[in-house]
Amino acid sequence: MLTIGCHLSVSKGYAAMGRTALQIGANTFAFFTRNPRGGTAKVPDPNDVAALQRIMDDHAFGPLVAHAPYTYNLCSAKDRAREFALEAMHEDLERLELLPGNFYNFHPGSHVGQGAGCGIELIAEGLCQVMFEGQRTRVLLETMAGKGTEVGRSFEEIAQIIALVEERRPELAGNLGVCFDTCHVSDGGYDIIRDLDGVLAEFDQVVGLERLCAVHINDSKNPRGAHKDRHACIGAGYLGSEELGGGLAVFAAVVRHPALRNLPFILETPNELPGYAAEIKLLRSLAK
Ligand code: ZN
Ligand code: FE
Ligand code: FE
Repeated sequence: MLTIGCHLSVSKGYAAMGRTALQIGANTFAFFTRNPRGGTAKVPDPNDVAALQRIMDDHAFGPLVAHAPYTYNLCSAKDRAREFALEAMHEDLERLELLPGNFYNFHPGSHVGQGAGCGIELIAEGLCQVMFEGQRTRVLLETMAGKGTEVGRSFEEIAQIIALVEERRPELAGNLGVCFDTCHVSDGGYDIIRDLDGVLAEFDQVVGLERLCAVHINDSKNPRGAHKDRHACIGAGYLGSEELGGGLAVFAAVVRHPALRNLPFILETPNELPGYAAEIKLLRSLAK
């Protein structure tokens, strides 16, 4: 069975997210580890976490995919912004040890004109500082659309970050993985409409499929290579709409692909809960 869900609000606690997931036919979900404006993260209530764990066990949930706020930038040119990202990520990782979730997804960062090489170096160095030996949570670098000065716009950039961590802190590198965002990868220039097999073969060659841990399943408001990062609902963008050159077969191929089908799929489409429920139903039917 497909493991699929969407971003949910953490405001009512963890068990509440589990119940909402059930209502919309989901068996995983994503949530922000803290308010995107950078407020402090609440320490999870053990009873609330235990209640979520029961829901997950009873309903065969897959791994959860926590998401770091978009505001963290490990490769900012400003010391204070970098320090904030380092402290917040470390604290997020400590808190996540108390939760049943296994994945912590983050946007590698924007180098703001310092150059991709400098960005890659700062991100790798940051990961070496915020991760710790023995952590249960796997940290996922998200494949990015390449908007502005985003790092992670190509599989090579992701691979270079992982390689640097592996070189400096080999004991941490096993807890690094990748989250594949279909909107971002298409925006980044990869042809997932006509050649998903080729894109994943390239990913395997450059990064290694064993690093691939989660999928953000989104349509894109822009054609391949646009570097815009504007998500569309499934079937309403360039990947899934026939008028725009794609089709639902593109998403059927994504959810059925042997390299992807057992991973958690997270929707980040512009929807409220009923829209998410409908997309989950649609993608489950395409997976059959
Ligand atoms: Zn993201
Ligand atoms: Fe994403
Ligand atoms: Fe995005």
